[in-house]
Amino acid sequence: MKMTSTGSHHLDADARRRWRRRLLPWYDRNRRDLPWRQNRDPYRVWLSEIMLQQTRVAAVLDHYRRFLQRFPTVQKLAAARESSVLAAWSGLGYYRRARMLHAAAKTIVKEHKGKFPGSVAELRALPGIGRYTAAAIASIVFNAPAAVVDGNVERVLERVFARVFSEKDLWRAAAELLSRTRPGDSNQAIMELGATVCLARQPRCSRCPVFALCASRGNIGPAKRLVGQKQGKICYALDRRDTSIFLVQRPKYASLMPGMWELPEITGDGVQGQSSLTFRHSITVTNYIVHVVSCPAQSESAGHWMEIKRLPLLPLTGLTRKILRQVQVI
Ligand code: SF4
Repeated sequence: MKMTSTGSHHLDADARRRWRRRLLPWYDRNRRDLPWRQNRDPYRVWLSEIMLQQTRVAAVLDHYRRFLQRFPTVQKLAAARESSVLAAWSGLGYYRRARMLHAAAKTIVKEHKGKFPGSVAELRALPGIGRYTAAAIASIVFNAPAAVVDGNVERVLERVFARVFSEKDLWRAAAELLSRTRPGDSNQAIMELGATVCLARQPRCSRCPVFALCASRGNIGPAKRLVGQKQGKICYALDRRDTSIFLVQRPKYASLMPGMWELPEITGDGVQGQSSLTFRHSITVTNYIVHVVSCPAQSESAGHWMEIKRLPLLPLTGLTRKILRQVQVI
């Protein structure tokens, strides 16, 4: 490692070569066997990248498999109704991603004859595909020399170079370390390193393939303060009659989960009777205590009675699906 005239650190050409020689074989031996790594099908890679945004691998696995069963090709996804796409997405949260995915599938079918474009610029022109996702797809599927930066990459680079980067310098550092012969694996290797070895709280430096090149070697200083978790309480009415259940639809203009169906909320004095179910549930930075009370909904004007057998096809919020599973309605 050496110091540049501007005072910032960088790896010289020899160190960059050593980085790749250490990281790529380590990735070949240690990479997790994940379903989207089975081949380089752009549809499968794209779907995984969108699902993995803001969501952990463990939470994605099951959804990924089921979504592919339901929509095995980009053509099938493009032809689907939005409500079916949202229903298949239910439980993953951040539903805007599903809407964008659906819109991009339609564009790929209409404007690209069902074939994924291979360049970063064309990929970025698709709905819901930003700089990171375009570079990930282009490098993994099409071998394009495009580096990625996500939270894992940022953490690894800041530790390896023992400095905090501006966004521009971060992308530049990632590009400098990228293997030109195996760009997709090179990107996945650094992300895998961040996800499995260079962990946020406790890096496992003794197992790290780039230990010799790392300037901090686990001496990471005080952890970045996590965003404070807020507390909240939320009550829902479970109003069931014979083969139907009463649900309300979130407004189309709601910023969170617009148009999705959920149990009616009970507010203020309406909260009476025993909770039939109480549990904790986190939404973004808020930890909720959720109470579900078996009682009539406060107002029938704003909702609908839904046949229970139709529920699997309905775009339910993740929390409502969780409740209905726990009370064995679905
Ligand atoms: Fe991270 Fe430790 Fe490896 Fe440095 S040596 S990259 S801090 S795991």
